[in-house]
Amino acid sequence: MKILVIEDEPKTGSYLRQGLTEAGFVVDLVRDGLDGLHMALNESYDLMILDVMLPSLDGWRVLGGLREAGKDMPVLMLTARDRVEDRVKGLELGADDYLIKPFAFAELLARVRTLLRRGVMSKEPDMLRAADLELNLLRRRVTRGGRKIALTAKEFALLELLLRRQGEVLPRSLIASQVWDMNFDSDTNVVEVAVRRLRAKIDDDFELKLIHTVRGMGYVLEAPGQ
Ligand code: CA
Repeated sequence: MKILVIEDEPKTGSYLRQGLTEAGFVVDLVRDGLDGLHMALNESYDLMILDVMLPSLDGWRVLGGLREAGKDMPVLMLTARDRVEDRVKGLELGADDYLIKPFAFAELLARVRTLLRRGVMSKEPDMLRAADLELNLLRRRVTRGGRKIALTAKEFALLELLLRRQGEVLPRSLIASQVWDMNFDSDTNVVEVAVRRLRAKIDDDFELKLIHTVRGMGYVLEAPGQ
């Protein structure tokens, strides 16, 4: 998860960068509003932490520019002033949450995690389905006909890909690059072996088969009538 921090106060900035990095996030820190907006528009971030009082472009204008450009990443605003009108203004401009300075880092981290979770949930369903097969993305759990199926991390990733693109024939090379993040030579059978293992777990004991081989092309997950 990548976070953009726009904060001109050096102490607060490095404090945020260090804390968030230690919490496992990738952090970019910018001290200027205009630079920050530029980075937010040109790079991909999961969340922005935005100070209100900034040089060259204040937090309100950064937020306005961001939303105008159609960027919907969650924004947590930092403000030194606990004023009702500031909060209203921020909400109207599309801020997702507020923190009044000075704040405890634990409080900020809790807000960041809540916003990220909310973002994930609104963007995608937490459940993928085909016939009686269910894959729960949040709990990382798979069931078929209500029966729990234990999968390895790679099998889970493979099934997730097939389910997300069900009905679509996926070439072995695409599966290899998406699930293993590697480009395999065409003669490798890594994908074949993984598909065979996955089938043994989710298809073999069931009359209705979901994973199909399309000769010379790849694999497709398909449930009839869906
Ligand atoms: Ca400031």
